[in-house]
Amino acid sequence: MPRLRITELFLSLQGESRSVGLPTAFVRLTGCPLRCGYCDTAYAFSGGSWMGLGEVLERVAALGVGHVCVTGGEPLAQRDCPALLSALCDAGYAVSLETSGALDISAVDPRVVQVVDLKTPGSGELAKNRYENLALLGPGDQLKLVICDRTDYEWGRALLRERRLAERIEVLLSPCHGRQDPRELAEWILEDRLPVRFQLQLHKYLWGDQPGR
Ligand code: SF4
Repeated sequence: MPRLRITELFLSLQGESRSVGLPTAFVRLTGCPLRCGYCDTAYAFSGGSWMGLGEVLERVAALGVGHVCVTGGEPLAQRDCPALLSALCDAGYAVSLETSGALDISAVDPRVVQVVDLKTPGSGELAKNRYENLALLGPGDQLKLVICDRTDYEWGRALLRERRLAERIEVLLSPCHGRQDPRELAEWILEDRLPVRFQLQLHKYLWGDQPGR
């Protein structure tokens, strides 16, 4: 029977991606093999509580919304994450997965919207990127780049152009909170006519770095 180690399960507004602003049940799985310099969920690296799949589904149902986001940590670091995603889809939820792009996404249910946060140089974890994942993303999925500085921006721009990513996936560029001035990033995107969606992390503006929001 699938079991998941859960750091927190809570209701909030989706803070990023195409579903931004929608009331969403968040399931934050414990554990991550990466150590990004800007990580704001280091409290999910360890601890957590083991729950059976049935208990997770019950607790999600109790939150009373139709959108569910499975996040971490790095959720795919847990063996039973794909089973959780499929069970949530079977239960009729609109399901999204936030993943780092460092682990294989091939076992993820195709009904799930994947938001792959490919690591930029400024994260300090560039070497962990699993570029094979890019070929597995479809039109419903999203690629997110957290931009820490101009070097990150130019790296991301080159990647998008070389691989023509924006032609087949929605690409999100997000300024790293406290490191990249949002307005400057917006101006770079406009200057280059880069076909990406600029986004701010809504939850940071509403609740700062408070866990469970
Ligand atoms: S992948 Fe996500 S959870 Fe893991 S260290 Fe990086 S930002 Fe933090």
